[in-house]
Amino acid sequence: MSFQPQTIIEPFRIKSVEPISFTTPEQRTIALEQAGYNLFLLKANDVLIDLLTDSGTSAMSAAQWGGMLQGDESYAGARSFYKFEESVRSITGFKHIIPTHQGRAAERILFGAVCKPDDVVPNNAHFDTTRANIEACHAEARDLVIAEGRQPGLYHPFKGNIDLDRLCATIEEIGPERIPLCMITATNNSGGGQPVSMANIRAMSEICRSYKIPFFIDACRFAENSWFIKQREEGYADKTPLEIAQELFSYADGCTMSAKKDGLANIGGFLALNDDTWAEQCRNQLILTEGFPTYGGMAGYDLEAVAVGLHEALQEDYLRYRVRSIEYLGERLTEAGIPIVLPTGGHAVYIDAGALLPHIPSSQYPAQALCMALYLVAGVRAVEIGSVMFGKPRADGSEEPAALELVRLAFPRRVYTQSHVDYLAEALLYVAQNAEQVQGVRIEWQAPALRHFTARFAFV
Ligand SMILES: *Cc1c(COP(=O)(O)O)cnc(C)c1O
Repeated sequence: MSFQPQTIIEPFRIKSVEPISFTTPEQRTIALEQAGYNLFLLKANDVLIDLLTDSGTSAMSAAQWGGMLQGDESYAGARSFYKFEESVRSITGFKHIIPTHQGRAAERILFGAVCKPDDVVPNNAHFDTTRANIEACHAEARDLVIAEGRQPGLYHPFKGNIDLDRLCATIEEIGPERIPLCMITATNNSGGGQPVSMANIRAMSEICRSYKIPFFIDACRFAENSWFIKQREEGYADKTPLEIAQELFSYADGCTMSAKKDGLANIGGFLALNDDTWAEQCRNQLILTEGFPTYGGMAGYDLEAVAVGLHEALQEDYLRYRVRSIEYLGERLTEAGIPIVLPTGGHAVYIDAGALLPHIPSSQYPAQALCMALYLVAGVRAVEIGSVMFGKPRADGSEEPAALELVRLAFPRRVYTQSHVDYLAEALLYVAQNAEQVQGVRIEWQAPALRHFTARFAFV
């Protein structure tokens, strides 16, 4: 006999629990009204299942908590730093490991050191903080994802790939002297958590080397990306996620990392690189705003949590469960005819709210309306990635809508179980069946920049 289970179970048992808060529809109506219909302004206590983000929301393991108790809080040369450095280096192989309090600090320090005004940084798709840090240097952040990566319903195994022809054309057009570095984001967060293939990374690396342009990886979800390579790319099925990650980093000259993602930690990040001169410049910047180079912006116990978390994120049982939970929700929604970005990515399901709610025009923010409905119906918090986030004002006072009206359901790592996902699917099916009752919204008040965080809405 050989038992071949069909069910992929959570690869952990629960040692410590945190109750979630059930509310009545009436309580949710009041809570949402008080939040100006902006889910960012809700109290987390009024949320039953929180899928606002997968950043910093992971459940830590007993091994991580155990490590934290051993955190060495020495200002300089702490034992915890050397553990952290060894852990990062065993995966990335980079020479200089610089701890930062989160990913954006690594970005600010790197771009601050190497970007000049009018420079261009190509990437498959810049994450918003990456773009903002490049633009803060008066340089341009240019997105060059393959055409398939911009079509939500189209299947492609590596929708995060960079368009290599457009990359070469960009380098020829701009000239290598105005490109301080090229970057690839793995997985591509802005594009649906879609992976990049090893072949794409290898080819990009060769192109960059031929022009002597440094090549960096935005590595926030390097473990999830490695898992997709193992599943989908020829020649990698028998390699471990660690071996795949090591190969991936071997093609690069450095990386930026938010340990709030695949570091399985609640805070932390790093910048890692090989070049001695750049590393010295970055460490000087680090001391100005983050801290001494052996702690950056992190406590000793944070360094411990990340040192352990990075390797836990590469465990096969964990990655299988993680990617499957997301795929499972995607399958339930697809079977019910709910349009989503396909295939599902590594950290989230993205619902195409524009297609689900055709009666709501972009000017009435269908993705925001869907987020509100999902909260009112089921206490679930998702995030709008549509015209509230990316709409641009036109000269005549109207607004240019975003390319897509998406609702992102981002999964915190190791936090929810299959019954939570079943509940989610039920809630979404209910909302979809009653789609015509979902009403459009308008913005009542907005801040001049990054309005999605604080805007107030009303029903049309
Ligand atoms: C989260 C994220 C960042 C920024 O990291 P923070 O820790 O939030 O500052 C950068 N790039 C990508 C792809 C991310 O997902």
